[in-house]
Amino acid sequence: MTPGLDKIFACPYCGDLARIATIRSGNTFGAIFWTDGRMQAPMLPELPPAARCEKCRKFFWIDEARPVGETPTLEGGDPWPQAKHVGQLSEDDFYEAIESGLAATAHQELILRRLAWWAGNDPHRQVYNTGRPGADNRQQRFLDNLRRMMQLLDEADDEQRLFKAEAARQIGLFSQAAGLLEKPFDGRLKPYADLIARLAAAGDSTLHPLP
Ligand SMILES: [Zn+2]
Repeated sequence: MTPGLDKIFACPYCGDLARIATIRSGNTFGAIFWTDGRMQAPMLPELPPAARCEKCRKFFWIDEARPVGETPTLEGGDPWPQAKHVGQLSEDDFYEAIESGLAATAHQELILRRLAWWAGNDPHRQVYNTGRPGADNRQQRFLDNLRRMMQLLDEADDEQRLFKAEAARQIGLFSQAAGLLEKPFDGRLKPYADLIARLAAAGDSTLHPLP
């Protein structure tokens, strides 16, 4: 992985400066793929789409924040040492962001809900990655989030149909998951669909890595 420049931007509400590290190039070597669609790639870190301002505590989309500059500059300096790196949002942050009205469209709501789901599943990824037990994530808000995602996902789109089947399986709606997987999937989606179908048939609602 080759690091890129830090991008500096201003909070759209209070103008406080923040920074996000970018990468110039990366790859998926050593990546783990999970049934919920998340890919964990050590050589390809995820850049967060949304952030919370450290100063005014409001949520905003990084794409919609005013760009201020990039550092190091051509002269090698950093004119914005006060701009701190934006942190990853937690599962709670994503729910709070949705409640605060950050999602202006169903598409944006889906992005935030999928990230909340992934954050909620992260303790289970830790079990596989480290062997240490994770916290129980199957709280009501986690299940409510999956039910709302199922309403928003469009079955006419194969990728969204697959997400919907996996959401159904993780709620424990195994026959609904199986029904959503009946029409075959092509290419890169097929290994996910096959595994999710096997797990649904076995009555298993937990997260799994792809073999
Ligand atoms: Zn702010």
